[in-house]
Amino acid sequence: MDALAGRTALVTGASRGIGRAIARRLAREGALVAVHYGRNEAAAQQTRELIVEEGGRAFAVGAELGVPGDIEALYAGLEEGLAAQGTEPCLDILVSNAGISGSARIHEVTPELFDRLFAVNTKSPFFLVQRGLKNLRDGGRIIIISSAATRVAYPRSVVYAMAKGALNTFTLALARELGPRGITVNAVSPGFVETDMNVEKRVTAEATAALAALSVFNRVGQPADIADVVAFLASDASRWITGQCLDASGGSRL
Ligand code: NAP
Repeated sequence: MDALAGRTALVTGASRGIGRAIARRLAREGALVAVHYGRNEAAAQQTRELIVEEGGRAFAVGAELGVPGDIEALYAGLEEGLAAQGTEPCLDILVSNAGISGSARIHEVTPELFDRLFAVNTKSPFFLVQRGLKNLRDGGRIIIISSAATRVAYPRSVVYAMAKGALNTFTLALARELGPRGITVNAVSPGFVETDMNVEKRVTAEATAALAALSVFNRVGQPADIADVVAFLASDASRWITGQCLDASGGSRL
């Protein structure tokens, strides 16, 4: 599999969960992958080791997002890592995946929770892309991980859903903006996926069964389900798709 041979990818939040699966999948297709993490360096190094074991190339880049100076720190680390690999400071694929959840109904939302969810889930992806446009080659790919919570009413996590909804709007505008450079911009909206993010929602067999029942396939999504969609969007095969939000929720709540 060498569909992405010679390409360079940055995947934010690739130390665990969906981001790790995306990083591994892109590396299996031949891309050199920058495995970004926030605080969990050990997990990021584990992702890197898994990629190397699978015959791929990767390096880790740490930068906490949603704090002042986050984007500058991330790109300084990225460019340093690329130089160490003997590669130009250029990207072909930018995957904005890092994110946090925050369950709270409207009466429970505090200004602090609101600001934090928008800082990490909306503001940092926006400026990640804005700064990344310097490095991204023409003909490149931008893939933004959104959520199916933007398609169905999700009052249990109202601010999280709003923050992800802003990413869908961003995707649309950006696709138009970057068309002349041949860059496609798409969002992927997972439903429930088995990761650390929702471990507290799967504490009992009954709770897990209820999450599985949301999908027409009666199972909870796996990180690889999302990574396969991202790999398609990163490939040449998706060249005629831009400005779209692809639902990857196993037909949840159709
Ligand atoms: P996860 O298992 O909790 O992993 C989150 C990843 O993001 C980790 O690599 C983490 O880095 C990084 N991260 C989180 N906050 C960060 C911050 N402030 N600064 C830098 N890095 C940060 O999450 P996941 O389930 O894989 O979710 C990945 C994406 O999919 C998110 O955007 C999420 O909203 C979206 N999504 C998930 C689901 C689901 O059911 N899991 C459903 C729909 C959408 P560290 O390891 O260093 O902490």
